[in-house]
Amino acid sequence: MHVHDQQAHELMELVFQFTAERMAMDPPPLDFCVPFAELTALAGQTITPEGLGGTAALRLFEDVLGPACLSIDHPRYLSFIPAAPTEAATLFDLIVSATSIYGGSWLEGSGAVYAENQALRWLSDLAGLPAGAGGTFVSGGSIANLSALAVARRVWRDADPSRADRRPVVLLSAAAHSSNAAALDLLDLRSLPVEVDGADRMTVQTLRAALDALTGEQRNSICAVVATAGLTNTGTVDDLAAAADAASDLGAWFHVDGAYGGAALCSSTRRHLFAGIERADSLTIDPHKWLFAPYDCAAILYREPNLAKRTFTQHAEYLEVLTATDDWSPSDYAPHLTRRARGLPTWFSLAVHGTNAYRDGVDVTLGTTEAATELVRSLAHLELVTEPELSVVVFRRVGWDREQYAAWSGQLLADQIGFVVPTVWRGETVLRLCITNPRTTIDDVRACLPP
Ligand SMILES: *Cc1c(COP(=O)(O)O)cnc(C)c1O
Repeated sequence: MHVHDQQAHELMELVFQFTAERMAMDPPPLDFCVPFAELTALAGQTITPEGLGGTAALRLFEDVLGPACLSIDHPRYLSFIPAAPTEAATLFDLIVSATSIYGGSWLEGSGAVYAENQALRWLSDLAGLPAGAGGTFVSGGSIANLSALAVARRVWRDADPSRADRRPVVLLSAAAHSSNAAALDLLDLRSLPVEVDGADRMTVQTLRAALDALTGEQRNSICAVVATAGLTNTGTVDDLAAAADAASDLGAWFHVDGAYGGAALCSSTRRHLFAGIERADSLTIDPHKWLFAPYDCAAILYREPNLAKRTFTQHAEYLEVLTATDDWSPSDYAPHLTRRARGLPTWFSLAVHGTNAYRDGVDVTLGTTEAATELVRSLAHLELVTEPELSVVVFRRVGWDREQYAAWSGQLLADQIGFVVPTVWRGETVLRLCITNPRTTIDDVRACLPP
């Protein structure tokens, strides 16, 4: 178990070699989802009293477990939200582990916190939030949204002692990401749905209609308005200025869920879609989605971080040395204490490449999406379902039913060509491509279209 013994040294060589080989693959194999029975037969019991030894355990991963994980960074992985970490970010993730950095407090990790905060500052500046804005990196957009809504609830309750035992309400569109509804459930909040337009967006009109329909009791119970900057299913963006207006009308918190789409703030062509985002009280952006970071890394930013600190700081005798100071501790800004300095790979990659390279990376994916849109438009058997705004293309294969989509999608993966799964649009099974990997070319897209 000692770092300097022979076995550990050999293992280090093997792990570095594996890492170098995996990172040099262009592309890596797409690989498979393997049924449990098959994995049981192949891998069996992997944890034993005596241990397998480093070489055997690594081989087991290399031969059996690794190939049973899809390569989300493959250029023809076009489902859900693909990953495309830069080499710099991936390599620095090794260093984050190797240095045992504690990312929770300034006292223990000041250098890491300083660097992470510069990455957060970049995001915050892109959104146009004030200089005092700040937050932390959490594991995903789901936890980021949960954090934001926990603060919104706290602020609403603190504003009036008679609200202490009341369940506030959140205005949320029916198309918002499922993590928002999950957060409402966890926080015991109620939701009031806002209608959406033909591309799933909340608009001035639908927000106005939602406000006009409120009863007096409802109006006095709204703690937050949640808007989405980049809907996961369609890639479209709510009217953020209208949502900000609604929130200020109601005296409510304004949360913007930009987990996927917030990345396009740095693009050279889409910034206008986000007008109003600068009025957010809180904002979620996942670098692990479209900002070239390895899993897991999601930013939660607050206009007034002190409100989050009041919500989340844990108090205990052994922590007093931390909480008695004004130092910036990431633990104070989400429901966590110990945390990996998971923003460091993003910081390192930004420091290495510069922010222009991020703009260019996002621009490349947007260009590929535009080409993909034109390709779909040009094919008689395909039909666009919504007009893409960011990097999601939703379309139907004319004449296909659910089973035909599923069979084609399964075969595409079985043939190791690509990974494209169907989604649902207004009850109809359709196809959805999401392009966040700059290595994805229009030829890759072409190879992943149904006949
Ligand atoms: C992906 C996504 C989430 C959830 O983020 P995770 O990192 O998967 O937890 C939330 N909101 C939107 C809009 C998303 O696209």
